Amino acid sequence: MMQIDLANLDLALAHKEASETCPFCTRRTWTTDDTPAAVSPTDPDTGAPILGAAIPAAIMVCRHCGFIRLHALEVLLGEPADRRSPQM
Ligand SMILES: [Zn+2]
Repeated sequence: MMQIDLANLDLALAHKEASETCPFCTRRTWTTDDTPAAVSPTDPDTGAPILGAAIPAAIMVCRHCGFIRLHALEVLLGEPADRRSPQM
């Protein structure tokens, strides 16, 4: 199972100049897990999940208001770009 190096996640967010402030409550009380979330793309015609396709993402939860944010690990950590969106 893939794991997220949380120290690298913090460095990557700082390198990308990502905001540390929750957009809803303005706190900086994020918690995260070292196991990535799998975001499933859906078929644009049917809306059904595309089996076997997933975008690994870091999930961060604001401990104050519960807002959830996601960061695509391939983009954030500089790993291979998303094959479906080469301009990202
Ligand atoms: Zn919040």
